[in-house]
Amino acid sequence: LQANAVQPRPVLDRLPKYAAGKPPAPIEGLTSYKLSSNENPLPPIPAVLDAIREHVGTFRYPDPLSTALRGALSEYLDVPAEDIVTGAGSLGALTQILNTFAGQNEDGVQDEVVYAWRSFEAYPIVVGTAGARAVEVPVLDDGRHDLEAMAAAVNERTTVVVLCTPNNPTGPILRTDEVERFIAAVPRNVLVVIDEAYTEFVRDDDAVNGIEMYRKYPNVAVLRTFSKAHGLANLRVGYSITRPEITAHLRVIATPFAVSTLAERAAIASLENADAVAERVESLVQERRRVVAGLAELGWEIPEAQGNFVWLKLGEAAADFAAYAATHALSVRAFAGEGVRVSIGEPEANSRFLEICRNYPTKPR
Ligand code: PMP
Repeated sequence: LQANAVQPRPVLDRLPKYAAGKPPAPIEGLTSYKLSSNENPLPPIPAVLDAIREHVGTFRYPDPLSTALRGALSEYLDVPAEDIVTGAGSLGALTQILNTFAGQNEDGVQDEVVYAWRSFEAYPIVVGTAGARAVEVPVLDDGRHDLEAMAAAVNERTTVVVLCTPNNPTGPILRTDEVERFIAAVPRNVLVVIDEAYTEFVRDDDAVNGIEMYRKYPNVAVLRTFSKAHGLANLRVGYSITRPEITAHLRVIATPFAVSTLAERAAIASLENADAVAERVESLVQERRRVVAGLAELGWEIPEAQGNFVWLKLGEAAADFAAYAATHALSVRAFAGEGVRVSIGEPEANSRFLEICRNYPTKPR
């Protein structure tokens, strides 16, 4: 160890790098489309832009408690405002939870956090940074969580489990019955976090509703975001919903002022225009249906797609497919050796994606 140089914590060497989606390199004569970050391709609704404009001159610190937004969410979701904690995106809200419940204890023993893998690529980073040990349970062949194996992975060191529904990047939802069975199987001192970043895109009646689980069980927390359905990814606003005994702890470690006034006001305006947002979400769901049907027509088998993305299990061809898509000014997210996640974008982007698939020699397994 060099005594004369600053040293990062050793855990940093072991953390995977977050490979944020990039726009494609421009190609003469072709419109570029970014389908690599599960963003909403539609511009913000006018009321949201008006709210941002109205507050753009605000240079004081924001309300650290996001009181106005929590009030609006409380009414919208019929949940006490006390049970809601906002953060810089739902990733900020998840980080609060992990920093509160999962770390390295004074005796050196690490708490364990169980989640499915592959799932959202930030999970290992935020779990590792908190100081806890990540326990990754492989998803089933069809991209669903293996909840039995996840329950079996819970032990006396486990403090948090993260369930992701729909699962990013594989696509399927978790069903109510299986989640209830899972919650019954894990001890009540384990916090079950249900990450519902894509919940507005779900059209499966059997899908679990995290808020119902939170109402029923004291050890459930739900994560939701304005980044996806509401299209406010750049403004960084998300939240958790859980019991007040828990939110009291979360507020202690929450980064102060993480949600700006602009983000808060935009989120409120979006909630106030829920019908317009729902209409846009429905148009994306219709596009998802068209993409899924188009892939099926080509004989491409994919897992159930319930988010605003599809998962192509291309295995060793994953990186090559992404490179091929880039030659058509389309960026997608490849997980080398595993698969490719492609967001549902503008209709023209989705059509180009289908055309690329039609011309690609390898099919997903
Ligand atoms: N959870 C899941 C499953 C996600 O896919 C994402 C974004 N890719 C997030 C959380 C975080 O989104 P945000 O912080 O923008 O709310």
